[in-house]
Amino acid sequence: MQYIAPLAQLIEHFRALPGIGAKTAVRLAYHVLDMEPAKAQALAQAILEAKEKIGYCSTCFNLTDQDPCQICASEKRDHSIICVVEQPQDVAAMERMRDYQGVYHVLHGALSPLEGVGPDQLRIKELLARLMDNTVKEVIMATNPSVEGEATAMYLAKLLKPLGIRVTRIAHGLPMGGDLEYADEVTLAKAMENRREI
Ligand SMILES: [Zn+2]
Repeated sequence: MQYIAPLAQLIEHFRALPGIGAKTAVRLAYHVLDMEPAKAQALAQAILEAKEKIGYCSTCFNLTDQDPCQICASEKRDHSIICVVEQPQDVAAMERMRDYQGVYHVLHGALSPLEGVGPDQLRIKELLARLMDNTVKEVIMATNPSVEGEATAMYLAKLLKPLGIRVTRIAHGLPMGGDLEYADEVTLAKAMENRREI
């Protein structure tokens, strides 16, 4: 079926989003056309504002609207423990758990030779730089329980151990191949509690 050009364009944009199939894209596009002009305006504005105001923390590389981010800037957090995760969503999952008092480092991916992701594509240099002043005592590897996540944790452990830092890996209460992001709080809390030295 042929859609008139502006509608086809809208459908294309929805289609490009993760988890949105062809049917959902069409439904969303028609929904937008049905919206009050003010509502549609607000939606477009929210997208622009999020893109404009949110950037990466220059310390931990989590998403933030202030630099350093709230967590890095907080005196209540334990800055001697860094929890290393793959994505900003993982920080959000860890924070929902509420138990963790340390700080974070977001790698923005995991090592994957097949997909051409090497150490230089991740925020590894930046992590090493954070360890130079000797305030960090423990680095917790909370990368996903996938082949890539494991490989990344092992790679970093090799890099960090000679620096005299305790390196731990969260336990495997998490399903293999699963995403940290989708783990429930109890599972995540257990995984943290049962972390082991690597
Ligand atoms: Zn930060």
